[in-house]
Amino acid sequence: MKEFDGELRKLKEEEQLRKLAYLESSSYAKIFINGQRYINFSSNDYLGLSGHPKIIQAAVAAFRKYGFGSGSSRLLSGSYVPHKKLEDRIAKFKGTRAALVFSTGYSANTGIIPAVVGTGDTVLSDELNHASIVDGARLSRAKIRIYRHCNTNHLEELLKKSSGRKLIITDTVFSMDGDIAPLKGIVFLSKKYDALLMIDDAHGAGVLGRTGRGGLEHFGIKSDDIIQMGTLSKAFGCFGGFVAGSRNLTDFLINRARSFIYSTSIPPAMVEACIKAIDIVDLSSHNMRKRLWKNRQRLYLGLKSLDYDILNSETPIIPILAGNVVNAIKTGNYLRRKRIFAPAIRPPTVPEGKCRIRFSVTAAHTYEDIDLVLESLSKLKGGK
Ligand SMILES: *Cc1c(COP(=O)(O)O)cnc(C)c1O
Repeated sequence: MKEFDGELRKLKEEEQLRKLAYLESSSYAKIFINGQRYINFSSNDYLGLSGHPKIIQAAVAAFRKYGFGSGSSRLLSGSYVPHKKLEDRIAKFKGTRAALVFSTGYSANTGIIPAVVGTGDTVLSDELNHASIVDGARLSRAKIRIYRHCNTNHLEELLKKSSGRKLIITDTVFSMDGDIAPLKGIVFLSKKYDALLMIDDAHGAGVLGRTGRGGLEHFGIKSDDIIQMGTLSKAFGCFGGFVAGSRNLTDFLINRARSFIYSTSIPPAMVEACIKAIDIVDLSSHNMRKRLWKNRQRLYLGLKSLDYDILNSETPIIPILAGNVVNAIKTGNYLRRKRIFAPAIRPPTVPEGKCRIRFSVTAAHTYEDIDLVLESLSKLKGGK
């Protein structure tokens, strides 16, 4: 196909052509690519659960019982007893009446938003929200108003000018900056202006809050009215998206969310793995989370002392700004030579000029892993 030659060449010239790296190993803290071993700082497996023996065991047992594929969508014969068990388990974990599982977090966002709002309504969205929120909002045909990052004053200004049903959406933890949304102020505004509130807790669950329940626990917020979206693919080490909230919400989404209705359900074995993962996060992740935050603190303080601009990171996601694309790629390649896998993040994922190396720290890293990053970057700064 010659149609794409021009665009591909342009991407290449602008150093924006992205390529896939294929892992020859599991995705734990140490990975193999092209026969080389790297320390992996690009995984969102925050608690190191993706290889947990009990999760694997649960999946294997379910594979034996149910086979691989689920065969159809949820409204046909693709709903299995494990799906119900998982939804009850998520609701219990989140402290809500109900929950609904989607194939991915991406499909949760692109399903929920167009179901909840439409033509004549308004979506109010943080400028750094995840791409799946952006896409869901576009699909909805509602008016989209973007408020400045974490800026509740701007949000209020826009709320005053909004018409129709209003839906405020924010990530709890921003996936490229690692900062946390001012949820208290946002909850206040949602009540004041009678707006629906939806939070995307993809990087919050398992990470934030004393017991790992996520963004709301972090701020001590209790509310049955918030639409709580999340994913099982990050701290839970599994796969699949979900929403937690009222029974009315889930009953409605079963009937209206197109990504739920028109997509094959997650295989029951994956579902059983998810249930086990939530059990582990809920009942025995305290020490893992402690290790995660200790590791995070070590890298965070180390990078600060090296004078890196790490934006407002407050979580295990720690970016270092590298400026333009060429610089970011140079730093990424340098780290790769040091056997550290932390690729450069460039447009369109982040704005032009705000390219960065994004480190995500996990409980599976050792202090040696983190110190290797700090030593390597220190040498880079010293020009060696
Ligand atoms: C990863 C992510 C998603 C998508 O979840 P998947 O399960 O990977 O599809 C949605 N929102 C945010 C903020 C994310 O970081």
